Amino acid sequence: MTRTVYVNGEYLPEHEAKVSIFDRAFLMADGVYEVTSVLDGKLIDFAGHAKRLERSLSELDMPSPCTMDELLEIHRKLVELNGIEEGLVYLQVTRGAPGDRDFAWPDPETCAPGIVLFTQNKPGLANSPAAQKGMKIISIEDVRWGRRDIKTVQLLYPSMGKMMAKKAGVDDAWMVQDGFVTEGTSNNAYFIKGNTIVTRALSNDILHGITRAAVLRFAAEAQMQIEERNFTIEEAQAADEAFITSASAFVMPVVEIDGQAIGSGTPGPLALRLREIYLDESRKAAV
Ligand code: PMP
Repeated sequence: MTRTVYVNGEYLPEHEAKVSIFDRAFLMADGVYEVTSVLDGKLIDFAGHAKRLERSLSELDMPSPCTMDELLEIHRKLVELNGIEEGLVYLQVTRGAPGDRDFAWPDPETCAPGIVLFTQNKPGLANSPAAQKGMKIISIEDVRWGRRDIKTVQLLYPSMGKMMAKKAGVDDAWMVQDGFVTEGTSNNAYFIKGNTIVTRALSNDILHGITRAAVLRFAAEAQMQIEERNFTIEEAQAADEAFITSASAFVMPVVEIDGQAIGSGTPGPLALRLREIYLDESRKAAV
């Protein structure tokens, strides 16, 4: 089946979809994005993703191409047209294509924002064997720009981080700045010691994960303690458990950091329990 995608107001077969070479996301990474997961053919935490998108747009003074209600309809229609039961919807909004290259932002009155959405079919996303195995990670220096709270499409360093991990024979990397872990290349980072979950506090240094917000809420409801503070790789290595969260990986246990096994070296019981709770509760609230 040919995938149907959405580009600037039109639903099209993917091979007919086109964007301008002058689009500022292409030339300057002047675009923001969201990834919403789909389970049972429904969207997980769409409201959270829509809210963060509005914040990213407003921080960059970028006009919105449509209302959040219209965006929900486009998401739903693409999921339906492409028959997605488990997978993702990728959404990108750009400052548009002014018809030439210029550092200055175009006048929003004459340059409409660009919008692209497509689905990715991922059967078995929720029952991923990776969750039973756990992830191995390395630490790398965080050399990204200072506004990581804005979800921009400038993902070159996270891509480089994934390649460094691949080269080291592991699954992913956590980034470290001034001696403290910021986050994973495409996820938020946590460790558990006793009954306490530790993760970096929200600031411009990290993306404010939608999954992070939900998982911390469920953890508090399950009577776990939460400390939002800076932590080092050494502290995480000495923890009982570690894990990451993201919209596409949900809660994923981390079993090794820089060659050091975490706890027993197998996925921890609390991380696996949080994954179960997150999946159950998110499915119930899906739209
Ligand atoms: N941090 C970074 C750098 C990310 O790219 C992502 C995933 N987009 C996350 C955290 C997790 O955010 P979310 O739970 O909203 O997917």
